[in-house]
Amino acid sequence: MPLPEPLQNLVRALERLPGIGPKTASRLAFFLLRAPDDLAQDLAQALLQLKTGITYCQECFNIAGAGQTKCAICDSPQRDPGLICVVEDPLDVLALERTEAYNGRYHVLHGALSPIEGIGPEQLRIRELLARVEAGGVREVILATNPSLEGDYTAAYLRQRLKPLGVRLTRLARGLPAGGDLEYADQTTLLRALAGRQEMEE
Ligand SMILES: [Zn+2]
Repeated sequence: MPLPEPLQNLVRALERLPGIGPKTASRLAFFLLRAPDDLAQDLAQALLQLKTGITYCQECFNIAGAGQTKCAICDSPQRDPGLICVVEDPLDVLALERTEAYNGRYHVLHGALSPIEGIGPEQLRIRELLARVEAGGVREVILATNPSLEGDYTAAYLRQRLKPLGVRLTRLARGLPAGGDLEYADQTTLLRALAGRQEMEE
């Protein structure tokens, strides 16, 4: 039985989300059909506002509210500007913030280097990171890219570029699940990785 077009459209859109297969997409679509009107309306409104209401911090490229040039972390005088934690994704910022153990600032690369996928330094926010460190006032850069092949490769590349700038370079301690994503690590593991961070050797 072919689904009526509005349902079909929703199912197809949901299927494009990560981790959602055709079965889950259908189940969600039927759930929304039966749910009270305000749920569908709230959801539609939130989705529409997502793109217009969010922008990226001009300093660290974390998410920021529309019309703001800086994110809440860069804007806070409580956060140490001499310490920069480099991560792949804004979700990694959220994960590290949940530990409540970090009081420096961040730099979000928006991905990792991947020669196979054709992602080079110019596709990431690397130029902006170098400029921040070159501007001075930075003591330490924590390379907190994911403990994966691409993440390690990116950290090694950044080390090479940042080393001549005379800044302390550290990498999160081992113990994070290898090949995994920072954002999925639990709070205790992240805390330990942050506290046990080590100088990055060649
Ligand atoms: Zn920021």
